[in-house]
Amino acid sequence: MQHHISQLNEAQQQPVLHKDGPMIIIAGAGSGKTRVLTIRIAYLMSQGVDAFNILALTFTNKAAREMKKRISDIVGSTEAKNLWMGTFHSVFARILRAEADKLGYPSNFTIYDTQDSVRLISAIIKEMQLDKDIYKPKQVFGRISSYKNSLITVKAYFNDPELQEADAMSKKPRMGEIYQNYVDRCFKAGAMDFDDLLLKTNELLNRFPDVLLKYQHRFKYILVDEYQDTNHSQYLIVRALSDRFQNICVVGDDAQSIYAFRGANINNILNFQKDYEGVKTYRLEQNYRSSKNIVEAANSIIDKNKVKLDKIVWTANDDGPPIKVHRSMTDGEEGRFVASTIFETKMQKQLMNNQFAILYRTNAQSRAMEDALRKRDIPYRIYGGLSFYQRKEIKDVLCYLRLVLNPKDEEALIRVINYPARGIGDTTIEKLTIAANHYKRSIFEVMQHIDKIDLKLNSGTKNKLQDFVTMIRSFQVLNETHDAFFMADHVTKKTGLVQELKKDATPEGIARIENIEELLNGMKDFIEGQKEIDGARGSLSEFMEDVALATDLDNDPGDDDRVALMTIHLAKGLEFPYVFIVGMEEDLFPSAMSMSTRSELEEERRLFYVALTRAEHQAYLTYAQSRYRWGKLSDSEPSRFIDEIDGQYLEYLTPEESNYRYRPMIDIDIFGDVDKSKLRQSKPVASAPPKYITDNQPKPDSPIRRLKPVGNQKPGTANDLDLSVGNTVMHERFGKGEVVSMEGAGADRKAEICFDVGGIKKLLLRFAKLDVI
Ligand code: ATP
Ligand code: MG
Repeated sequence: MQHHISQLNEAQQQPVLHKDGPMIIIAGAGSGKTRVLTIRIAYLMSQGVDAFNILALTFTNKAAREMKKRISDIVGSTEAKNLWMGTFHSVFARILRAEADKLGYPSNFTIYDTQDSVRLISAIIKEMQLDKDIYKPKQVFGRISSYKNSLITVKAYFNDPELQEADAMSKKPRMGEIYQNYVDRCFKAGAMDFDDLLLKTNELLNRFPDVLLKYQHRFKYILVDEYQDTNHSQYLIVRALSDRFQNICVVGDDAQSIYAFRGANINNILNFQKDYEGVKTYRLEQNYRSSKNIVEAANSIIDKNKVKLDKIVWTANDDGPPIKVHRSMTDGEEGRFVASTIFETKMQKQLMNNQFAILYRTNAQSRAMEDALRKRDIPYRIYGGLSFYQRKEIKDVLCYLRLVLNPKDEEALIRVINYPARGIGDTTIEKLTIAANHYKRSIFEVMQHIDKIDLKLNSGTKNKLQDFVTMIRSFQVLNETHDAFFMADHVTKKTGLVQELKKDATPEGIARIENIEELLNGMKDFIEGQKEIDGARGSLSEFMEDVALATDLDNDPGDDDRVALMTIHLAKGLEFPYVFIVGMEEDLFPSAMSMSTRSELEEERRLFYVALTRAEHQAYLTYAQSRYRWGKLSDSEPSRFIDEIDGQYLEYLTPEESNYRYRPMIDIDIFGDVDKSKLRQSKPVASAPPKYITDNQPKPDSPIRRLKPVGNQKPGTANDLDLSVGNTVMHERFGKGEVVSMEGAGADRKAEICFDVGGIKKLLLRFAKLDVI
C-alpha cells in the first residue's frame, strides 16, 4: 500500500490519507482525481475498513470495473469483490430489488429503457386523443424525467399551481394527467424507468427509516466521482445515506459540469461545504495527462467562463506539439482528413488504433467519420447512438425474455405478442389494453382470464391468446432451473423468431441472425463471468439486469484495437493520446440550441474544455465550411472556441484554397515562416506559390501525399536516401536498428528493421522518420 501512496504527489496523498469526516477534492482535468479516489478506497481497506461498508459511485459501470480491478491488484481480489461500486442507477437498482415489496413492486420489476418510455407515452397521448404535434412524446418524456429528477411526484405536481401554469402556458394543460397515467401504467406493468431508480430510492429512504438506517450502516464510507454532474435526486440519496457517519468523499471539477440539460446541478459541488459540517477541501493542481500545450490551451478556454471556482492547473509534461486546426470544404472531406491523419500517424509512429479518439458534439456527425474510416479500413467503434441492445432483432429477443421474468411488462408484451405474426391483430390488442386499464390489471392477466371477460373476441383469437400465455408460462417453468444462455436459445427457437429472420436472405437479414448469435455468445461469456461471483448462477434475471443498465461504454470489450468515436458527453473521464474534435463550427459547437443565455454558452464552453482535456499528446480541431444538416447543405463559420484559444498553442494546417486537394495530411510544418494567423481567413493572404516539394509523383486525388517544406529537411532521411540491407538507422521512437530486408517500390517501399530495443519492425519508408547513421 505504502508503495502506491508514495507514487502520488504530496497534494494527492493528503486526501488519500484523510481521516473520517466529509471531504471534497476539487481539481481540474487530468489531475488524478479518479486515481486518488481509487487509492483512497484501497487505503481505507488496508486500514481495516470492511469492503462491504464502502460504496463508490462512478459515471459508468466500466469506470467502476476498472477501479475495482486496480483495487484488487493492490488489496487482493477476494477483498475487493465485496465493494459496492457502479453507477447510481446500477447500485440503486440492486437495492430496490431487495426492497421492492415495500414500494409495492415485484422484485423482478422490469427496467424500461427510453424507447419503452417514449412508446408508452405516445400510446397514452393517443388514448387521451391529444394532438401529438403539441404533445410531442419525446418532449413530454423529457418533462416527466425532469419532474422525477427534481423529486416532483404526480401528487406534488398537482399541488403546485406554478408548475401546472407553466405547462398550460406552453400549451400542454394536460401534462399532469399524462404524467399520472404514465406513472400508473408503469406501476401496473411492474416497471421502473431510469429516473424511477433514483426517485424510488429516495422514496424508500424517506418513507422507511429502518431501511435508511440499514443502508447508512452498510455504507459507512461513500465516495462519488464526477460529483459535479449529480442531479438533485442523486444528491439527496448521497446526502441521506451519508448523514449518519458523514464519511463522504466527493471529487469533481466544476469546469467539467456538462449535464445541466439532464438536470445536473453544478451547485451540488459549489455548495458542498455548506451541506456538511467541517468539510475538508483538497485541491490538486498538477495535470499528469496532457502536454503543456494542451493544458495551457484548455486553461485559456475555461478562463473565459464567468461562473467558476478559481483553480490552477499546470503540468510538468513536455510542451508537446501545438494543437492542429484544420479546415475543409465539406464534412466528407473533414472525415477523409481525420481518417488519413490517423492512418499516417499510425504508420509513422507505429501506434494502435485505440490510441485515437474522434469526439463530436452530436451523434449525427459520426456518419462522415465512419465512411472515411471504412474506406481506409481503419477499425472503429461507435459509442452511444443506438446500442447493440436496442437493435430491433435484439430487442425483440430481449422483450420475450423480459416477459419470462415479468409477464406484466406491457411494453415487452405489445412488442412481441404478434411478432412473429400469430394472427393477433391491432384491434385485439386495443381491446386488451382497454380492458387492462379498466380492471387495473396487466394485459397478460387479462389474457389469462380471457374466458371470463367478454371482449367480443372470436374463439380463434381467444385460442391464440391462450397459446401465447401457455408459451410464456412454459418458459417460466424452464427458467427456474436453467441459465440465461439456455433460455435465450430456447426462446428464440420456440417463438419462431429465428425461423422468421431466416426467411430474409438479404445481407441485412443475415446480419440480424448474426446479431442474435452475438447476443447468445455474449450470454455465454456472461455466465462464465458470473461463476466467479458468490451466489450468482448466470440466471436470466442476472443477465437482464446487466443489460438494462449497460451504458454504451460498458459494452466495450476493451481488448480490441479500434478507433473510438463518441460524443464529448460520453468521453468524460477518459483519455487518449490523439484526439480529434470535429465539427468545430458555430451553431454546431457551440450548439445552436445552447447559445441563448450566458449559462448555456458557458456549459458549451465547459464541454469544449472536457473535449480538449481528453488528449494526452496531440489534439486536432477540425471544421468544415459547409455540411449537410437536416438534409440541407449549409454554410458554416468556424467555432468561436477556436478563436478563444490563445494563438500560441495553435497551428493552422490548412493551406491555400487553390492547393486544396493536395493538402498535407500529417504533422509537417508546411508553412515555414508564413504568418499563420492570416491563414485563418477564407482567402489566405499567403500568396506565394506553395513552397513544397513532393516525394514522389502524386496521383491527383491521393490523399496521402507527403509534402515537405523546401530547405527544412533533415539531411539524410530515409525517404530520399537509398537505404539498403545492412544500413544502421536511427528511429525517433525505436532508437538504433539495422535494416534486415527491403521490399516494394516508390510509395510502397518498406524496410524490415531490427531495433536494438523492440526487435524487428516493418516500416513504410514514406512515413518512417529514419536517419541513416
Ligand atoms: P478527469 O477530470 O478528466 O476525470 P482526473 O482528475 O480524474 O481527470 P485521472 O484520470 O485520475 O485524472 O488521472 C489522469 C492521468 O494521470 C491518468 O492516466 C493517471 O494515471 C495519471 N496520474 C495521476 N496522478 C499521477 C501521478 N501522481 N503520477 C503519475 N501519473 C499520474
Ligand atoms: Mg476522473
